[in-house]
Amino acid sequence: MTKQDALEVINQKQDLIIEVSDTIWDYAELSLLEKKSAAFYIQKLKDEGFDVQTPVAGMDTAFLGRVGSGRPIIGILAEYDALDGLSQQGGMAERRPIEAGKPGHGCHHHALGAGSFGAALAVKAYLESKPEGSGTLVFYGTPGEEGGAGKAFMARDGVFDELDIAFCWHPGSTNEVTTGTCNSSLQIEYKFTGVSAHAAGDPHLGRSALDAVELMNVGVQFLREHMIDSARIHYAITDAGGYSPNVVQPEAQVLYMVRSQKVGQALDLLKRLDKIAEGAALMTETTLKRRFIDGTSNTVPNFTLEKLLYDNFAQIGVPSYTEEEKALAAALIKTYENPRTVLPGFAANQDPEIGEYVKSKIADGRPLNDFLVPYYSSTAMRMGSTDVGDVSWICPTAQITTVTQASNSPGHSWQNVAIGNTSIAHKGVLCASRVLAGAAIDIYENPDIVAAAKAEWEKKLGGESYRCPIPADAVPIAVGDKM
Ligand SMILES: [Zn+2]
Repeated sequence: MTKQDALEVINQKQDLIIEVSDTIWDYAELSLLEKKSAAFYIQKLKDEGFDVQTPVAGMDTAFLGRVGSGRPIIGILAEYDALDGLSQQGGMAERRPIEAGKPGHGCHHHALGAGSFGAALAVKAYLESKPEGSGTLVFYGTPGEEGGAGKAFMARDGVFDELDIAFCWHPGSTNEVTTGTCNSSLQIEYKFTGVSAHAAGDPHLGRSALDAVELMNVGVQFLREHMIDSARIHYAITDAGGYSPNVVQPEAQVLYMVRSQKVGQALDLLKRLDKIAEGAALMTETTLKRRFIDGTSNTVPNFTLEKLLYDNFAQIGVPSYTEEEKALAAALIKTYENPRTVLPGFAANQDPEIGEYVKSKIADGRPLNDFLVPYYSSTAMRMGSTDVGDVSWICPTAQITTVTQASNSPGHSWQNVAIGNTSIAHKGVLCASRVLAGAAIDIYENPDIVAAAKAEWEKKLGGESYRCPIPADAVPIAVGDKM
């Protein structure tokens, strides 16, 4: 089978790929609670003849679908978790939840998984047409990207160790190859327990957990002066002990997030946070319980793979749109409350020449970015974190973005949910399937690419090896799980 024939499989199976995308959009399940979504994928993978393994790394909603044998071994990553409170009806430009307060796919992970699934179908057809030992594909069902860091837990347990190359993609509002690096990040919960008392009658008998949280936060404010520049510390008081000021609060809880460029720096900073928490417990005579929530590593960009993805993207082309699709996107853009002022695409804001090109493309105010952002690779920092970073420390990894959203759409928004089950999103899904499958097939046909990508990857790591942010004894924690 030629590469062209394999890509044709995506056309033949397009109804199935879209069914996957729309079904997961409907299910809209939160991180590590993606039970229906995972069961649906597992069934579809079995129907299509993949060798399926589940659960993985202690997570019921993680799974692998394997096909082929021998090297190279290529991984294609899928996600399928939704975001809380974003329930929204599809195909309209006004805020109208299906069920108020329920989750919705505001980050388009329903599309992400489906696009990866489509790529896997094409690669499977290709590998099955070749002699045994021509290569292996592993489709990774990775839960809890929005919270829980499923991939980092899988990385800790060695699930990606066999891989030569990994590919992923993320739905967005531009067609471009992802480059640059991002922060590593850790989340830890601290719970203080004291003694309740009447705050006026018996204040001397009370031991306030809320005081402990406040003192911990003050301690961390003083720490900020003495940490490296690239570090960030954020917190949220997730339990302030209740609504009664006349009660000494016996329980209180604070969730901390520590970011830094490298995981090691964040872990070092975390040790200092732990000491501050112990100090706060000592000062208030409360007891402290600490729970590790999740952690992710920075991404290691791989220009060899980025170029390969770009060449496929340029060859395959990007979607174009009907007047009706443009009208929906334009109507959604009108609802943005705080429109972004930056140019669409990472590269356009990094490279002046690309910036000019993108400016000329969008000068007519087009609501859907129906062009490919020119090739751009760099190690520049983008703010934010992803658990794809952990995979990129284990093998050369690269990603693309395709358009499934209106231009400059706000992240994690109801507008994204509204467009997520329309033909606009479907086009982006199928485009991603083609580009990822095309790049993977190029690698099976020319395994020298693996050697080049690995040589670059080793150089970028500079002798450093992967330090997993997840401690050996940590367990994945679903959204809303109480300590
Ligand atoms: Zn996302």
